[in-house]
Amino acid sequence: SEILTFKDIWVEYGEKIVLERVSLSISEGSFVSIVGPSGAGKSTFLRLALGQEAPTRGQVLLDGKALLPQCDPDRGVVFQRYSVYPHLTALQNVLLGLEFAKSPFLGRLYGKARRDAIQTATDMLTAVGLQHNLNIYPSALSGGMQQRLAIAQALVKHPRVLLLDEPFGALDPEIRLEMHDLILRLWAQHGLTILMVTHDLQEAFKLATRVIKVDKRRHDPHAPHRYGSGII
Ligand code: ADP
Ligand code: ADP
Repeated sequence: SEILTFKDIWVEYGEKIVLERVSLSISEGSFVSIVGPSGAGKSTFLRLALGQEAPTRGQVLLDGKALLPQCDPDRGVVFQRYSVYPHLTALQNVLLGLEFAKSPFLGRLYGKARRDAIQTATDMLTAVGLQHNLNIYPSALSGGMQQRLAIAQALVKHPRVLLLDEPFGALDPEIRLEMHDLILRLWAQHGLTILMVTHDLQEAFKLATRVIKVDKRRHDPHAPHRYGSGII
């Protein structure tokens, strides 16, 4: 069944058309990669799916209903960098993910609720292999470990949809392969629907059940902004 639907979407910034009449249905449980040149509108897709940005025209639907803006536990997101807070430890970062919709302050949780939150966050960190780094700050973690932490933060509330924007783009090739194993395992274990933007075609075809290319449908060198991207 369909979990996420982009219906006749246009995204415009003033004169500039970024996405033009884009329709796309994402099946629940699928792993969709979005590829395409820089500036084509790939990240715009993720912002729409996240509800961070509203389309100029058209609708984004989750389970057939209009998206609630931001702070929705149904969607987790990981960016290439800076997805986690540098002034919080690994555990605190994941607790923040857990409490996001309510309050970022664990300080408001007491007793059993507090112990449960810490246990849930610790379990999630264990699932990504960070069980020995609970009280470490992100700056003391390698790039791959920081992305593991970002994934733990994004998944701790068990969202149904995981949005990934070039999540492995800054990592060394071997580490990238480890991250591929991790993300495929989490995808299967959590029954996730994944939408991943990547520049790496090989990565896109290796991981995804469906690869979508976003690009300008037409080119007019005199007025490129007149034409938005579509799915090609
Ligand atoms: P991609 O992820 O494919 O590189 P983006 O989705 O980030 O592309 O951006 C698509 C286009 O929209 C780019 O040309 C970018 O400059 C433009 N854009 C994005 N955000 C804004 C904004 N707030 N105002 C104006 N233009 C924007
Ligand atoms: P302890 O009593 O051992 O210091 P706490 O119960 O205070 O443990 O906190 C448990 C974990 O939650 C620790 O890693 C702590 O740093 C973190 N933590 C405490 N308060 C907050 C907060 N307001 N926001 C996020 N994390 C917090």
